[in-house]
Amino acid sequence: MSQTLVALESVNKHFGDLHVLQDIDLSIASGEVVVVIGPSGSGKSTLCRTINRLETIDSGRITIEGRELPQEGRALARLRADVGMVFQSFNLFAHKTVLENVTLGQRKVRRVAKADAERRAMELLERVGVASQAQKYPAQLSGGQQQRVAIARALAMDPKVMLFDEPTSALDPEMINEVLEVMRQLAADGMTMVVVTHEMGFARSAANRVVFMADGRIVEEASPKEFFSNPRSDRAKDFLSKIL
Ligand code: ADP
Ligand code: MG
Repeated sequence: MSQTLVALESVNKHFGDLHVLQDIDLSIASGEVVVVIGPSGSGKSTLCRTINRLETIDSGRITIEGRELPQEGRALARLRADVGMVFQSFNLFAHKTVLENVTLGQRKVRRVAKADAERRAMELLERVGVASQAQKYPAQLSGGQQQRVAIARALAMDPKVMLFDEPTSALDPEMINEVLEVMRQLAADGMTMVVVTHEMGFARSAANRVVFMADGRIVEEASPKEFFSNPRSDRAKDFLSKIL
């Protein structure tokens, strides 16, 4: 069994009266691909956001390589670099070129020299299939291309884990596969990934484990094969009957 990379232990979080994360225990092994599914409002995005501390937690513990998440300052900036995040909306810097989007973090947080950052950026843009767009601005790219740039930008920080929060939900249908294909390749290359998605084909083919959430709790965890062929809980059965 490989080593635990990310661990959440008895994590609780409230938004006012809403108990959005309830006693979440989840450990993610190095190289593992965990797909998180569940109805809208079940806490999937909040779960992702706690892992890179975009959200604080009320109780419990989150560790990466055994170390608790830093609270602030440069340690927090480094944590954010170690935990790459790709959102539904592409979140690229609109006034920077594609190349600048992928070099900026390397230079500011990792203190990489300009030429090295650009070399690395071009390698990554090549890898996600958008190297020819390097001098363009995000608005000149399709949604699928922008999302692939967002993936390259996160990868440029050499993250230990990548979080994807519905990365294809805002895309036109014909662009979904080009993004999923990049993610599949990343998974095959051994990246540790947490992926919130409604793409059940991706979950079946790329996940090592499916985590099903409802009402702020992890209701069920299983291999994709087991989960899709034999969901145990009524909540999961109900959810699957609606989406499959
Ligand atoms: P999911 O990603 O599974 O759809 P979210 O984690 O986005 O769920 O949201 C879980 C619940 O928390 C929802 O009811 C949502 O309205 C609420 N919520 C999310 N973010 C906030 C916030 N910043 N303030 C108050 N409520 C929030
Ligand atoms: Mg969400």
